[in-house]
Amino acid sequence: MNAVAYIALGSNLGDRELHLLRAVSELGRLPQSRITLLSGFYDTEPVGGVVQESFLNAVLRLETGLPPQELLTELQRIETGIFRRKRELRWGPRTMDLDLLFYDDLILDDELLTLPHPRLHQRRFVLEPLAEIAPELVHPLLGKTVLSLLRVLPPGERVTRS
Ligand code: ADP
Ligand code: MG
Repeated sequence: MNAVAYIALGSNLGDRELHLLRAVSELGRLPQSRITLLSGFYDTEPVGGVVQESFLNAVLRLETGLPPQELLTELQRIETGIFRRKRELRWGPRTMDLDLLFYDDLILDDELLTLPHPRLHQRRFVLEPLAEIAPELVHPLLGKTVLSLLRVLPPGERVTRS
């Protein structure tokens, strides 16, 4: 039985669009996995207080036979192996950031992996693209749909579908 995972993609260094396309292609090639939905690409103001270029963000739905920790390892392998991402400044500029948002209804909080992603409900740059492909998806901890989480979000950073 396959699980359904939602993955957030973000880039703000170099050719952001090309980086997203490359990441989508790499994710589609993961073992026992296929992409079943892909959002548009959103141009978003950076959050977190670090002065940097704006991001291009997207979200996709992946059906996968990989267990969650293995999937996270694959995401990190793509970040560092394909994009040569160095882990320096937290929330700083990066060629590619891949975050695991949901893995079925799994609730998990261990050292390496927290599910659902702990900040997804506060981030317009995640909720906007997620609402495009899964508006009725229910957050297993908060018991609210993606669309309702987006609606109650205070006005914040600018997020525009590009
Ligand atoms: P951020 O995405 O918050 O800017 P990083 O990409 O550098 O920061 O990730 C920091 C750590 O977050 C990773 O080492 C990873 O183990 C951990 N992590 C915990 N839960 C998740 C998740 N759901 N998705 C991605 N990374 C996660
Ligand atoms: Mg990350």
